[in-house]
Amino acid sequence: MDFELTEEQELLRQTVRNFAETEIAPGASARDEAARFPSELIPKMAELGLLGMNIPQAYGGAGLDAVSAAIIIEELARVDGAVALIVASHNSLCAAHILNFGNEEQKRKYLPSLAGGKMLGAWALTEPGSGSDAAALKTRATLDGDHWLLNGEKQFTTQGSTAGVYVIMASTDRSQGKSGISAFIVERGSVGLRVGRVENKLGVRASDTAALHLENLRVAKQNLLGERGGAFKDVLRILYGGRVGVGAMAVGIARGALEEALKYAKGRTQFGKPIAELEAIQWMLADMATEIDAARLLVHRAARLKDNGKSFVKAASQAKLYAAETAMRATAKAIQIHGGYGYIKDYPVERYFRDAKLCEIGEGTSEIQRMVIAKELLRTIEDR
Ligand SMILES: Cc1cc2nc3c(=O)[nH]c(=O)nc-3n(C[C@H](O)[C@H](O)[C@H](O)COP(=O)(O)OP(=O)(O)OC[C@H]3O[C@@H](n4cnc5c(N)ncnc54)[C@H](O)[C@@H]3O)c2cc1C
Repeated sequence: MDFELTEEQELLRQTVRNFAETEIAPGASARDEAARFPSELIPKMAELGLLGMNIPQAYGGAGLDAVSAAIIIEELARVDGAVALIVASHNSLCAAHILNFGNEEQKRKYLPSLAGGKMLGAWALTEPGSGSDAAALKTRATLDGDHWLLNGEKQFTTQGSTAGVYVIMASTDRSQGKSGISAFIVERGSVGLRVGRVENKLGVRASDTAALHLENLRVAKQNLLGERGGAFKDVLRILYGGRVGVGAMAVGIARGALEEALKYAKGRTQFGKPIAELEAIQWMLADMATEIDAARLLVHRAARLKDNGKSFVKAASQAKLYAAETAMRATAKAIQIHGGYGYIKDYPVERYFRDAKLCEIGEGTSEIQRMVIAKELLRTIEDR
């Protein structure tokens, strides 16, 4: 396995880091406090190619590989988890679903606008009664002439109130269970699509998480995305890719917290010397750095497997699981190293701690990741 990044990937990391430090970091705490969506950053991120990371250049995107996307998400999360979540979900959920499973007409219609930041993408699977058990969704789609009529409720949709285009999962045949689930492309402003409550969250507060109410939502027949009744297997494939992104986000949050802790430990004096000279503090820093490096290796391994067209289901779940738990441990240690100052909002480590928690929940909780990993382990043993 090659541990080196290419010259292009190193350059990309530096470019995104500079952008994140100058454009994103300065307002991160204020946006978090006010739960304010960073609309002003969208055109700038589009210009840098961050909103069409994996979209081929033919459709107006940057055409980057999965490792490069992981590098970008890590750099964004290092300064602001909410911005990382916006970029990750827009790219790896909505845009990836249209790119991988849309027909040529759909790709030409939506991908350039998504890549160019003219519209943000949302992806609505979760419902009030179905989260981990996503196949139990209740939203129905019934044919009405040359339209589908969608009825149901969606919960926790990232970009729920700000998106220009939504990919929405609904059942077109309830008797078929998960084999009756289909996906639809829905444009903002469609009759019957009503944005509900925008959530007031623990972390990633500047990202937009909203409920959607679908009330006889009319969707043209040609906006069926992928095969009728075939969306659940597409959804799983989208989630495998998305998990690499959440893993990268967790690595970035953890690294941001480590850097803050290092800075603080060198500057804070107790008992006549910087606390960085205390072995107790050094051990925390050493554990944080070691786990972050391990988490990044897992994330990049999963991304490389994806880039090489190999199975990355287990690798993606392992990366997300380990990176998310690393982020929780590292951000908790960063607060500990800051003592009482870590507990107040003058320092960013409490924000990192709150943002990290989402990585253990979104795109499959840690319990679901363990189930996937165990299932893959047992399946490969049975295959031998
Ligand atoms: C900020 C945010 C953004 C989100 N963005 C999106 C989005 O853009 N699109 C979207 O579709 N969804 C989104 N989600 C939803 C997210 O994917 C779900 O919250 C997540 O999958 C968990 O579902 P749930 O909340 O219903 O919890 P539940 O599934 O009810 O789980 C509750 C608890 O039970 C555990 N559990 C459930 N089943 C099992 C099992 N079989 N074995 C062991 N433990 C189990 C879970 O691990 C968890 O600890 C978002 C959520 C948040 C908080």
